[in-house]
Amino acid sequence: MHDPVIRILPEHLANQIAAGEVVQRPESVVKELVENAIDAGATSVTVVVQEGGLRSIHVVDNGVGMAKADLELSVVRHATSKIASEADLHAISTLGFRGEALASIAAVAEVEIATAKEHEPHGWTLYSKPGQVPTCKPSASRAGTSIHVLNLFANVPARRKFLKSPLTEFRHITETLQKLAVARPDIRFVLYDGQSVVLDLHAEEPLERVVHVLRNAHASDLIPVEHAEQGIWVKGYVGGPQAARKNRNGQFLFLNGRTIQSKSLSFAIQQCYEHVLSAGHYPSFAMWIDIDPERIDVNIHPQKHEVKFDDERAVFLLVQHAVTTALASAMLIPDVGSFIPLAQTPLQSLAGSAPSTVAVNRFTGEILERSPTGASSQRTAPYMPATPAERPVSGAMNAAYAQLFVDESEEVGPRVLFLDRGIAFCRHEDGIMALRVFAAMERVFYEQMIDRRAQGSVVSEQLLFPVQVELGAAELALIQEHADFLVSFGYDVFVQGTTVTVQGVPWFVQAGQEEVAMADALECLSMIATSGVGAQEEQMIIQLARKRAYAARSNVAIQHVQQLVQDLRKCTISHVSPSGMATYTIVTTEEIEKRLQ
Ligand code: ADP
Ligand code: MG
Repeated sequence: MHDPVIRILPEHLANQIAAGEVVQRPESVVKELVENAIDAGATSVTVVVQEGGLRSIHVVDNGVGMAKADLELSVVRHATSKIASEADLHAISTLGFRGEALASIAAVAEVEIATAKEHEPHGWTLYSKPGQVPTCKPSASRAGTSIHVLNLFANVPARRKFLKSPLTEFRHITETLQKLAVARPDIRFVLYDGQSVVLDLHAEEPLERVVHVLRNAHASDLIPVEHAEQGIWVKGYVGGPQAARKNRNGQFLFLNGRTIQSKSLSFAIQQCYEHVLSAGHYPSFAMWIDIDPERIDVNIHPQKHEVKFDDERAVFLLVQHAVTTALASAMLIPDVGSFIPLAQTPLQSLAGSAPSTVAVNRFTGEILERSPTGASSQRTAPYMPATPAERPVSGAMNAAYAQLFVDESEEVGPRVLFLDRGIAFCRHEDGIMALRVFAAMERVFYEQMIDRRAQGSVVSEQLLFPVQVELGAAELALIQEHADFLVSFGYDVFVQGTTVTVQGVPWFVQAGQEEVAMADALECLSMIATSGVGAQEEQMIIQLARKRAYAARSNVAIQHVQQLVQDLRKCTISHVSPSGMATYTIVTTEEIEKRLQ
């Protein structure tokens, strides 16, 4: 008989290991403590930091406080007041819920928690040192909670070695507190670095908070954004060119009140600024995205920090639409919708939409990639963006009143005057619109493909007479590797030896063009092969839209442009192609008059 070699770790050791995930640096401590204060309903939170938080972090709030029994439990791992059942896990409205933060912090630092509930004769103070049993004594505290964290990582020298200078750590703390402050303008936040006040933000309106945190921005540089569709609310402010920065520090994104980082969502917004900001400048913005918590799938992984939106294109497109609409209404980008009569854009488009589900990592706010079947949630139907035809168009809405006086002859759409070198010149109410046909087609085809895929509508047309193509080894390998991917785009292929039989092609391929379409698909595939898995779908759509536009461009006549402009108007983003080319520009009569003087 052998003694078992597997042992259950003592509690303090298990906590210390878990702490590695939750508490990476002083900034993580501040984040957790301030989030707890917010969850406790505080209207005022003060943070005092010494030496970048390495020596001490002190967070004081005026929230509900804790009773003695709760105080004792608060530093125990997996002890939380915020969820009690699995059902709660699916509808979390607090910032915390894992019950790990205080236990983790207490495993790597000395912690003193003084807390009191209102109307109690006195409060309690808990002292805790790593590896020791905490003690709890009555104390005279005021209602609320004060948590003091001392000598962080003193017992984990390896971790402490990884920390940067106190100055750098303090910068991280400031950035995090600013994000939390923008997320909750209704709460007062004060930050001290030693003796000096670094940040003092009184409760205020969201716009004021954004202006105070951005510092260099004026309220007049911020354009309000508001859009709601299918259970997703997008609200916030985007900065005009004056508020742009050379880094991304002016960008704030929140999902259900939780700070999220998202390169792809930042990119979605950045894209709306094509031709507005010069290279190397990043727009400032504060955007609150809200999705019914019941519709959010919970996945908890503490280490992912990056949001991937590649598969959650719906949120991506919605945000882009909201931002372009706002920029267009602020006249920062031309509004293609404004010269088209409203009749084709029913205002009731927001009604009767389907419920949506978005899979979100509750801990980091990461929007998760979902399998194409939407298997991560059976509770509600997968989110589908409205077809472009149903999207409300700001320009059209603005024109609602003017529409009463629309000239009959204008109802059919823009009047295309002539086409020259791939540019269509059209009449516009403000002057002349010049449309780059190729770029416009790219944009329209791109969004059509996205909509078709999102709706799961038929993308393939079966061929009566399958076409056979002979391929080289590299191409065959490419096809075999991406067989399912190709099917999802409508290429129904069957490989035998070195022969590929094409049984179906995407709906837009014209008869007789099957072989060319297959070659195009292969070229697109080889181009996307280096993209990350998440980005491949997006890249493939961009490439295919480009190929399709390329094939169609030579047969464009004036009467097609009319339709093209109307299709373009229905796009979420209309002023720029997915590959970044401007689709149109408007030269106003005023500008022409000036030139003629
Ligand atoms: P979680 O926030 O995930 O529940 P924590 O470890 O951060 O886990 O906190 C544990 C519990 O301690 C919370 O659920 C809450 O009941 C209590 N708590 C922590 N901080 C505060 C505070 N500032 N005010 C009131 N209660 C608090
Ligand atoms: Mg917490």
